[in-house]
Formats: sequence, structure tokens, C-alpha cells
Amino acid sequence: MPQPAAADNGPARLTVLAGPTAVGKGTVSADIRARYPDVWLSVSATTRSARPGEVDGVHYHFVPTHEFDRMVADGEMLESAVVHGMNRYGTPRGPVEEKLAAGVPALLEIDLQGARQVREAMPEARFVFLAPPSWDELVRRLVGRGTEDAEERERRLATARVEMAAASEFDHVIVNDEVHRAADELVSVMGIERVPAGLD
Ligand code: 5GP
Repeated sequence: MPQPAAADNGPARLTVLAGPTAVGKGTVSADIRARYPDVWLSVSATTRSARPGEVDGVHYHFVPTHEFDRMVADGEMLESAVVHGMNRYGTPRGPVEEKLAAGVPALLEIDLQGARQVREAMPEARFVFLAPPSWDELVRRLVGRGTEDAEERERRLATARVEMAAASEFDHVIVNDEVHRAADELVSVMGIERVPAGLD
């Protein structure tokens, strides 16, 4: 991806956050949702089943494959991809366009393939890669969360190797060494001035 000349000038209306499995994109996004209510987080559609604690319409729109296919065919997805060789994920276009039209800063948490598609469609967006402090730490986080079996973990780590090699394509790399710190750096990269909720 080419580096857009104006990427660091002023607030970004659209920011794309990508990074390997288990790096903590969801945790950083949740922290932003809790502490920075001015930022709107896109809710992706996915064909995978909900994990315990995940709420339809909050964490994802959990849709059957035929509904996902329909959304893609009808042009309702800004981007979509098969992630980890299994399930499909996509960003519903309508809500993103509405927020951008209203001047609300929007954040997409998606994979590398999706980030590349958004780069094509909206090159003015700001692209941020969330990196682990080290490869060993990434493996430790993936094993530690215990949501995948060994075969699925291997699949995710294979994708993660490819994703880590693409970090240099992004406008910014943020190391997720501590969730609040990484979230604060992300909103700073987005150009958001407002102090976090609860602190003003
Ligand atoms: P998980 O199943 O662990 O929630 O997510 C698996 C992967 O799918 C993560 O890398 C996540 O960033 C990616 N993902 C989530 N939503 C989207 C989306 O809307 N589009 C794309 N391309 N990837 C997504």
C-alpha cells in the first residue's frame, strides 16, 4: 500500500485497525468503545458462530452464509474476506457511509485482506497495524485465551505470519503492550482530541 501524503494531517474520518490473531484488536476496540464514546466502531457481519459472551449486533452480526452472500451480491459490503481459511467476515457499507457523512470518526477492526480492499476503495483512510510485543507473546495470548483447538490455532498462526510481514504497508504500527496505552495511542493516531470518557 502506498503511504498517503496527507495521512497524518488532522482527524481521520475513517481508521482501519488490522493485526494478527490474538494480538488484542478486540480488546483494544472494546477499550475504545468504553472510554471514547465519540468513536464509532463498525460491527462486522460474520458467518462464524458466536463465542460465549458475544452478543449479536454488538460484537458481530452473526448471519447465515446465504445472507452473507446476498449482502455481498447486493453491494452491501464495503469489504469482505474469508479469514483463517474458514469463516467469512465483512464490513456492512451503509452504517460506515452514514457515520462518515455525519462527520463521526469511524473505526474498522478487520483483517489484512479487508484492509487492502478498503485501501483501494478509500485511500484517504488511515491504516493502523496492531503488533504484539513479540512473536512468543502472540502465541502465548492465543493459547491463553483457549477459544481455539490446536488445529485452529495452527491455522491462525500461519495467517499471523503472513500478516506480520505486511506491517510495513500500514501508516502506523502500534505495539499492544498494554491495552489502555495502545487504545490511547490509536485515538491519538485518529486525531481525536477529546479526553477519554470519565476523565473530563
Ligand atoms: P474472530 O473470529 O477472532 O473474531 O476474528 C477473526 C479475524 O477476522 C480477525 O483477524 C478479525 O480482525 C477479522 N475480522 C473481523 N471482522 C472483519 C471484517 O469485517 N472484515 C474482515 N476482512 N475481517 C474481519
